[in-house]
Amino acid sequence: MNRFTLPRDLYHGKGALEALKTLDGKRAIVVVGGGSMKRFGFLDRVTVYLKEAGMEVELFEGVEPDPSVDTVMRGAEAMRKFQPDWIVSIGGGSPIDAAKAMWAFYEYPDVTFEQLITPFSFPKLRTKARFCAIPSTSGTATEVTAFSVITDYTKGVKYPLADFNITPDVAIVDPALAETMPKKLTAHTGMDAMTHAIEAYVSTLHCDYTDPLALHAIKMISEELVKSYNGDMEARDRMHNAQCLAGMAFTNALLGIVHSMAHKTGAAYTGGHIVHGCANAMYLPKVIAFNAKEPEAEKRYGEIAASLGLEPTSKALIAHINEMNRALDIPSCIKDYEGGIIDEKEFMDKLPQVAELAVGDACTGSNPRQINPEQMAKLLKACFYDEEVDF
Ligand code: FE
Repeated sequence: MNRFTLPRDLYHGKGALEALKTLDGKRAIVVVGGGSMKRFGFLDRVTVYLKEAGMEVELFEGVEPDPSVDTVMRGAEAMRKFQPDWIVSIGGGSPIDAAKAMWAFYEYPDVTFEQLITPFSFPKLRTKARFCAIPSTSGTATEVTAFSVITDYTKGVKYPLADFNITPDVAIVDPALAETMPKKLTAHTGMDAMTHAIEAYVSTLHCDYTDPLALHAIKMISEELVKSYNGDMEARDRMHNAQCLAGMAFTNALLGIVHSMAHKTGAAYTGGHIVHGCANAMYLPKVIAFNAKEPEAEKRYGEIAASLGLEPTSKALIAHINEMNRALDIPSCIKDYEGGIIDEKEFMDKLPQVAELAVGDACTGSNPRQINPEQMAKLLKACFYDEEVDF
């Protein structure tokens, strides 16, 4: 038996934010990040609309990027005091991810992160509140997914949470919010979305329900992302839908080793973080070359290429991704990332360990080709130096 789960309602298009007026409840807590939603006036509008719906509103502000266990616990505590029947989260991936975890600890104060990280083992949510997510970036698609990532900074570990219980009830995909994104964020989040769609299409768990979503998202992102990056706001609006479609595909089909590698290299080096979407963009062409040695994967990449009007091969798809990366000013390898902030010696010293961790990542299981730590180390090295992948 397979399961396919999406939010009950999805409001989209300019002005969709007003859908908040239709929510039915008594008290809403709004979980938000660092301040851009406030600055651009969206937070005020959220509050006004929720009050128009007859609700009492409380704000939980200041969720940091890569939200911490501490923030989650403070949020859950605020919820226990306020007793909301709606949790409304607005912003980039982080406040929405944090709010998903707060929700679990609000409804189950005695649960632990250790219990929650076993995939698909959450206690039943919605005994106290329902959940509405409003994304302001076009990439993570956390507004429609069953995933959340929380960081325990004291232990130095990331808890990837995965359960259909945390798939939101309502998603509001209003492109006006995404128009506030700076250029670089547009490029990185857009290629994150492209990676979601391509990994979902070739995933071992892809199915008839996820394939059309993934394929259409890839087509839209191919057509719109570079234009959006260059300031075309109509393209920016379509990208907001495209990333959401990609999210609908991957929350059900899961991902692959591009994400395994991005997760484990992201915070591994002293020179700085490798931003998630940029890491995906750099690794994607190498991973396609690696996976394509598996005939079934080659066939699937060929189908993607054909749908873009290209020669039906993985090679043509790789060339297409490389071209997009160039147009988005994304470097072709880790060595060139942010002017070379990742130290070569440190990268090589940590390679065996990072490779081992990447193989063990939750996203590796649904990758179309199996991989061992030695192959992973070679693949990561190829991503560092922009070497050809022929193994
Ligand atoms: Fe991602």
